[in-house]
Amino acid sequence: MMLFTPIHIGPLELKNRIVLAPMATHYADETGAVTDRLKDYYVERAQGGSGLIIVESGYIHPLGRGGTRRMGLHEDRLIAGLKGLVESVHSEGARICSQIHHAGRQIRVNYTNGQYPVSASSIPAAMEAVVPRTLKIFEIEELVEAFGRAARRSLAAGFDAVLIHAAHGYLIHQFLSPLSNLRRDRYGGTFSRRLRFLREIVLRCQESLGKDFPLMVRISASEFIPGGITLKDGQKIARRLEEWGVKAIHVSGGTHDTVEMEIQPMAIPRGCLVHLAEGIKKAVRIPVGAVGRIVDPGMAEEILQKGKADLIAMGRALLADPEFPRKTQEGRWKDIRPCIGCLQGCHGHLYRGLPITCLVNPRAGMEREYQIKAAEKKKRVLIIGGGPGGMEAARVAALRGHEVTLAEKRNHLGGQFDLASLPDGKREIRAYLDYLTRQLKKLGVQIRINHEITPENMREVKADVVILAAGGSPLVPAIPGINREWVITAWQALAQPEKVGEKVAIVGAGSVGAETAEFLLDRGRDVTLIEMLPQIAGDAETINRKVLLRNLGEKGAQIRVLTKVTGILPGGVEMEFGGRKEILPVDTVVLAVGTRANDGLEAILREESVEFYKIGDCATPGKAIDAIHEGFKAGLRI
Ligand code: SF4
Repeated sequence: MMLFTPIHIGPLELKNRIVLAPMATHYADETGAVTDRLKDYYVERAQGGSGLIIVESGYIHPLGRGGTRRMGLHEDRLIAGLKGLVESVHSEGARICSQIHHAGRQIRVNYTNGQYPVSASSIPAAMEAVVPRTLKIFEIEELVEAFGRAARRSLAAGFDAVLIHAAHGYLIHQFLSPLSNLRRDRYGGTFSRRLRFLREIVLRCQESLGKDFPLMVRISASEFIPGGITLKDGQKIARRLEEWGVKAIHVSGGTHDTVEMEIQPMAIPRGCLVHLAEGIKKAVRIPVGAVGRIVDPGMAEEILQKGKADLIAMGRALLADPEFPRKTQEGRWKDIRPCIGCLQGCHGHLYRGLPITCLVNPRAGMEREYQIKAAEKKKRVLIIGGGPGGMEAARVAALRGHEVTLAEKRNHLGGQFDLASLPDGKREIRAYLDYLTRQLKKLGVQIRINHEITPENMREVKADVVILAAGGSPLVPAIPGINREWVITAWQALAQPEKVGEKVAIVGAGSVGAETAEFLLDRGRDVTLIEMLPQIAGDAETINRKVLLRNLGEKGAQIRVLTKVTGILPGGVEMEFGGRKEILPVDTVVLAVGTRANDGLEAILREESVEFYKIGDCATPGKAIDAIHEGFKAGLRI
């Protein structure tokens, strides 16, 4: 495969074309120093076979720190820790690149010790509440020096390459874009003047690193905003970068204002930025890297074969499965654990200031703590419930050598996650369930479908350990008329849309209700979402929520917030808003008000003194990521 042919970035040879794309992790300490956790995470990705590891943004100045536990490149005291990171990655046969970065206006004030964020001009980013302060000329000159010093620290630490982060709406991008740079001095006003800040940074870094050093630049070749940077502008920027002696260009897209193009959720098609890399490749001769939900080996190979890019950068695909490169090379494509674009563990955690993890890979960021080792004593393990949590528990227990039986009362595996995969924008979930099913079969797990464990047959079960993963059932609120036959649950609506009439009221507009609304709108129904809270889909991950709300608006959903359903009448629902009642005529009512735990078997397990663990919704109704991670940990404990 072309993926596994070597390539040069300037004088640097990479053993293959697979690059870990830089992603913030929040694994550094509060001062920006490398920790064991951060090192373990990158070492695991180097062990998996990636040719080049590009580490997360290293901030070059305290005011440019994009989060609380971001890695720093702003002080010399950090070099020793970085050196340890570089040596560890080198010892696994991979090359390693630093990324030098300043967040500019895309920052929260609690990351900057209360100081005002800075930018090219005083224009706020859409996602941030604070108007940034316009940088003065002497401050810009100081920042150019700070970038140069960060490059020098990278060299001192032994990094093989340095990447300047000029993409995603961060400070350098803020100078490049006519939307965020309204300056009239030598740093703004024309294309060339908007480019000056980047030009000076490149020159200063080359002075620190030497002209031949593999210096790369990452750009957003389209902002996807009218009036912003277009691919044509991106090509002009790329030509200049080549003229200045930059050795490769990493082509991304979007800013925080178009964050769904920067960090794409599953509703955005795979490979959605590849056309940008292809466009840049037409403009330059230096190597070009493509990125953006390239999550399957076939797509990665095709991009190279068709000459659309020279390098394939993968972020979340390698978070989900660090062994992606090795499995690809060995032809074990079906063993690759797929990133499904859920954003629950990566961006979802980052957004809340937490260390990142991954829904499908609980070991991400816990490589040292969560090692799957052979069990000391082989046990008979019964797992009750074939949702993703139960399946993950079965996978880990079987990997450790236990004899595992998985009992599922329905005629298929997947539980609620199977239903969640039915809306058009959520099909990627299926890839993960298929992966789990394949792994369980490969590991010899006894899968019993149509097999309900009841209080009666529970006592006959011969197992040393039971994992209770029985999930939950839809909550049915006590509303007059709730038992009418045209009242169904969201799960029923998803599984059997033919049972849903033309005019639908969905009671409850959390993410389940809102996604069911989009599913029914796609099938031509007239849908009204009714929610007691002031907002809808408040439990959804922010980027997914943005796309979901946009789709609901475009597809014509009627949305009623701060509204309570007080009765279900013949031909309609009675609702109350601000003390006033009204009737909404509908022919179907869909309930999406939450889940209650299926914990009926717990008492018997206690009576029988069986060792058991409760995971997922049958312990506490929550998100899929919780169920999967609890399943993983249960599999590890037995
Ligand atoms: Fe992909 Fe979801 Fe894992 Fe993020 S949390 S890497 S989106 S599977």
